[in-house]
Amino acid sequence: MNIENKKVVSFHYTLSNQQGEQIESSRDREPMVYLHGSGNIIPGLEKAMAGKAAGDQFEVTVRPADAYGERDENGIQRIPAKHFKQADRLEVGQPVILHTQQGQMQVTVVKVGRFNIDVDRNHPLAGQTLSFDVEVTDIRDATEEEIEHGHAHGPGGAHH
Ligand code: ZN
Repeated sequence: MNIENKKVVSFHYTLSNQQGEQIESSRDREPMVYLHGSGNIIPGLEKAMAGKAAGDQFEVTVRPADAYGERDENGIQRIPAKHFKQADRLEVGQPVILHTQQGQMQVTVVKVGRFNIDVDRNHPLAGQTLSFDVEVTDIRDATEEEIEHGHAHGPGGAHH
C-alpha cells in the first residue's frame, strides 16, 4: 500500500532548520498521524509523502512557501501593556494568546517595555527552510467518517 489520497498515514519525523539545529522530533513520543490529501500537514511535506510505503525513510527540504510561509515584516505589533493580564511577567520569546476582533491569535513576545509590549504575529517557523527526516511507520485506508471530517481519528488523530 502506498500513500495517496484517503490513506491515513503514521510517521516519525525529526525537524531541523538550515543551520542543522533540531527543532522538534516525534521519536520520543507516538508517531504523527494524518489523513493524506486533506492539508493536515504542511504542503511541502504532504507532497513528499505521496507514493511512499510503510518502512520508507527519506529526507525532504521544504522552502518557506511550502511550509509556514514567508515572514511578514509588518507582523510586529505594539500593544499597550495594560491589555495583558500579567504584563510584568512576560518574557521575550514567550508565546501568548491574543483575543482580537478576528478571534484568538497566537503571537510571540519580541520586546517587553514598561508601557508597551511588542509581539510578532508570524508563525515561529515562518521564513525558514525546513528539513524533515521522515520514517513512514503505517498506512491504512481512511474510514468514511475520517474522509468526511478531513482528518484522522483514533490513536494519534482526533478524538471526539
Ligand atoms: Zn473527526
